[in-house]
Amino acid sequence: MNHHFDTVIIGSGLAGLRAAIEAVRHGPVAVLTKLYPTRSHSTAAQGGIGAALGNEEPDSPDWHFYDTVKGSDYLGDQDAIEIMCNDAIRTVIELEHMGVPFSRTPDGRIAQRRFGGHTRDFGKAPVRRACYSADRTGHAILFALFEQARHLGVKFFAEFHVLDIPVADGACRGVVAVEMRSGVVHAFSAKAVLVASGGYGRVFKTTSNAAASTGDCLGILFRARIPLQDMEFFQFHPTGLHGLGILLTEGARGEGGILVNGEDERFMERYAPTIKDLAPRDMVARSILTEIMQGRGIGGGDYVHLDMRSIGRDVIEKRLPDIASFCRVYMGVDPSDAPVPVCPTAHYAMGGVPTDIDGRVLADETGRVIHGLYAAGECACVSVHGANRLGCNSLLDTVVFGRRAGIAIGEFIGNIDLHDLPADAIQAAEADIETILASRGDESSETVRLDLARLMMEHCSVFRTDAGLRCLIAKLPEIRERAGNLAVVNSGRRFNTELYDAVELRHLVDLAEVIAASALQRAESRGAHYREDFSHRDDANWLKHTLAFRSGDGLEFRHKPVVVTRFEPKERTY
Ligand SMILES: Cc1cc2nc3c(=O)[nH]c(=O)nc-3n(C[C@H](O)[C@H](O)[C@H](O)COP(=O)(O)OP(=O)(O)OC[C@H]3O[C@@H](n4cnc5c(N)ncnc54)[C@H](O)[C@@H]3O)c2cc1C
Repeated sequence: MNHHFDTVIIGSGLAGLRAAIEAVRHGPVAVLTKLYPTRSHSTAAQGGIGAALGNEEPDSPDWHFYDTVKGSDYLGDQDAIEIMCNDAIRTVIELEHMGVPFSRTPDGRIAQRRFGGHTRDFGKAPVRRACYSADRTGHAILFALFEQARHLGVKFFAEFHVLDIPVADGACRGVVAVEMRSGVVHAFSAKAVLVASGGYGRVFKTTSNAAASTGDCLGILFRARIPLQDMEFFQFHPTGLHGLGILLTEGARGEGGILVNGEDERFMERYAPTIKDLAPRDMVARSILTEIMQGRGIGGGDYVHLDMRSIGRDVIEKRLPDIASFCRVYMGVDPSDAPVPVCPTAHYAMGGVPTDIDGRVLADETGRVIHGLYAAGECACVSVHGANRLGCNSLLDTVVFGRRAGIAIGEFIGNIDLHDLPADAIQAAEADIETILASRGDESSETVRLDLARLMMEHCSVFRTDAGLRCLIAKLPEIRERAGNLAVVNSGRRFNTELYDAVELRHLVDLAEVIAASALQRAESRGAHYREDFSHRDDANWLKHTLAFRSGDGLEFRHKPVVVTRFEPKERTY
């Protein structure tokens, strides 16, 4: 089936929806999503969205700018960070006007709480900057944007799995997707395509990410020879529920929770004397694992405690109701009465498709754009998070840069004609589906996926070494071969989840290779990328972004400079 829209958006998370609201003012918009729209991972965001409103104590966008640059370990592009922090206040007020039910101060203003790495006066003490809706902030924003988008006439194609984003002659003309209900392939011709397909935490075994966070569109674009930027930087959130990886928001520490080791010591006082448990995530995750490796986990085991008892039951039930319920349901622990076992969990992809500050996808290190192709949200790398994202800056990134991309698309589509997608794009997708459905090998995609995720966890997570990364990379061809040798039982087309599992697995293998190879070439430690064999940051050689390209059957790396406008790199202490 063929469709024609001025703009096609892949993804109905915050980035896709915010862009759709802007683009639909200029022409018809379709949003494609492999889930029901409001099940996008954005709905799981708990703790907050950052903006220096100063509602609870003095704050300024300049301090937010500084914290974000420092948090990024100086790898974030400062032009983009400045735009984001300056636009944050307007953005949150706009969201409020769109209907987001933010939590309130007693005098009725938007309430704010502390989050890791957010400080007042250039690092002096933690500041209340995260605006929140209890611990369901993403859910509240997503539903408000979804209602707005529907009201404005955005057309949703729910449970459409995108298989291809054809790019030819430096331009993108549309998207090929399969309707999951019927298995029928649809072609969406468009003047502009925005990729807002979210993260890929599922490449790791222990993760806070939803099952759908498999990085499909990054895999597709990488195969189409579009580079991926800074893929070595993957954030581990310090407080996942032990053994499960389910997230306990940083807001729990923002409200007063503390981390305690097996010796009943508040160990973050040693690692970050000024802001302690509210240090940035890369530091806290490493500190927890160091405690564990040195035998100071709880009972000598592989976890520490998050102690929220000082917050008090009333505040926990009012401001952190969901995570209190997660603790009770999954761990059998009431956080008002007892400390909760936690361990770092794979959480957020700093790397992604390189874009400029208006979401245009960049084809190389010179800044050449792919016409008609845009990206925003977690799948994009603009880069505001550099080597390590600060908590509550991702929701902000999605709506600030989703909006900017939507505006840029509005200008772009006024000046060009709509062309049909080439017919062979559908044929290629059909052939691909048939090949998968006819696969009668002897592997199960679930087992291969788990083996891959275990390898990534073992060799490419918080601590990395040359030997470990090489061992991982050496094992990937076998994983890739197994992923191509699946025992597909159901050859039908209706809601055939085996088909989508196979497609997602292929993308995960590609992304694992890019992450591991990017990590191997970066011979320094910066932000979330920690190399035991190069334990220091090396600005002389590595203050630059990585661009990974597909080249033949292998990878090629190029680099581009970091944009430094105001804050020169300094030693990062907290
Ligand atoms: C548990 C959790 C808590 C978090 N808490 C916070 C927080 O408090 N504050 C904060 O700032 N950040 C938080 N984050 C991070 C933040 O929520 C995400 O980075 C952000 O919501 C990503 O939004 P997005 O719009 O880029 O993508 P998503 O919301 O992930 O949406 C991706 C969309 O792409 C679609 N898609 C993907 N592949 C395909 C395909 N092949 N075909 C069709 N559609 C496809 C999906 O269906 C989905 O609609 C949290 C993340 C997690 C996991």
